[in-house]
Amino acid sequence: MESVSPRSVFRFDTWTLQADREPDAEPVTYAMRCVVCGAASEPAEDFLDAQHWTFRHAGRNPSHHTYRETVNRPWRAWRGHPRDALPAQADGARPAASDTTRPPRSDGIRPAPAEAVRPAPADTRPS
Ligand SMILES: [Zn+2]
Repeated sequence: MESVSPRSVFRFDTWTLQADREPDAEPVTYAMRCVVCGAASEPAEDFLDAQHWTFRHAGRNPSHHTYRETVNRPWRAWRGHPRDALPAQADGARPAASDTTRPPRSDGIRPAPAEAVRPAPADTRPS
């Protein structure tokens, strides 16, 4: 059997992940699911809607005591450190979508830097 010698080259980059609170971000939604029967509420932007659904469901099914909350929250990730972020543009204009180093808007959220691994470009592979 022929031996195979796979070779991969990785480069570390700093990435930042931040909750997306831009005006055009998807809304945060909440939903509840009954763990007993699987019934679920519709996703709602107001948690009280999910809470009311739970009380109605429990009222109709007194033996269903266990629920699971699902929160959908939009996030953004960009290559770079939070300190590299540029100040928000006053007119609200955003960089082009093709700009992979798009900075975050200064909205008071403390983004968390993280190291991510991605494949290095092909031309940096050792020969
Ligand atoms: Zn149920």
